[in-house]
Amino acid sequence: MEKTQGWLSILGANPDVFYKHLFDVETPKYGAGRPSSWPLGHEMEYECRLGDMILCSKVREAYEVGFRGKKRDKPTAMEQLLGGTGDAVRVRRIAKVEQVSCDNCGLHLADADKPGGRFFYYCRQCKRSGRRFELCVACHVLEILQGEGKYSGNSFHPHYLKCQHRSTLIRRQSLENAYLDSPHLHRVLCDMCGGVVVGRGASDQCAKDGGSGGLPSKNRKGQELNDPHKKFYILASEFYACAHCPEQTGLRFELCVPCHNRISESGRGIQQLETTL
Ligand SMILES: [Zn+2]
Ligand SMILES: [Zn+2]
Ligand SMILES: [Zn+2]
Ligand SMILES: [Zn+2]
Repeated sequence: MEKTQGWLSILGANPDVFYKHLFDVETPKYGAGRPSSWPLGHEMEYECRLGDMILCSKVREAYEVGFRGKKRDKPTAMEQLLGGTGDAVRVRRIAKVEQVSCDNCGLHLADADKPGGRFFYYCRQCKRSGRRFELCVACHVLEILQGEGKYSGNSFHPHYLKCQHRSTLIRRQSLENAYLDSPHLHRVLCDMCGGVVVGRGASDQCAKDGGSGGLPSKNRKGQELNDPHKKFYILASEFYACAHCPEQTGLRFELCVPCHNRISESGRGIQQLETTL
């Protein structure tokens, strides 16, 4: 405790009472880290990262003759709008690789037996698992842009030093709602636990963490959602975003609902303790 308070005073910082306990660890590290290491959420059984996406100009550079892999059907207009949140209900089919299309926007990219295809990225991690995930060049750029304004340093987000927990965090229903000027954003990772809140794979992540919504592959009653006649979507998981950080430091700050609530509860506890002392 003493040591922590010591280096906080060296930094000249006096964090909100709700955040003080976060500094009571030897090496504080919160958040999702570098965007290049963020999970892309292609599948839940393993983690694919940006470095796993390999650029190719021909289908046979990516998949040898005879390779068979499971690929999801092309995303519908609705699923494209969801930026991957609807993946869980997209039907996977196993087949030889005749053609390649973007799993994000559905664009047809190349045929195995015809010349003149476009450049595309395939996921080597998915391929190792007998699955396929492909992106067009534009959607790959979009994937890189998701890290825009996110803190990726080694210590902790300036929010924890400068912002007040209760007055700066606003509950958001969706990304558009939080960042009107950045319609290309389709991913939120929590700046506390590092978990995926919104984006490809968010659903299963949320289910694993005890749930702040998202799109489960089974609904609460355990019913399979793969029946196309019964499709239902929970558009986006809610999260909390700081209203100050983008203006003050140019950084986004986001918390998943469980992390936000945990901090609020322990903060209130500390406050009560201080007033009774
Ligand atoms: Zn695309
Ligand atoms: Zn993958
Ligand atoms: Zn902030
Ligand atoms: Zn969290």
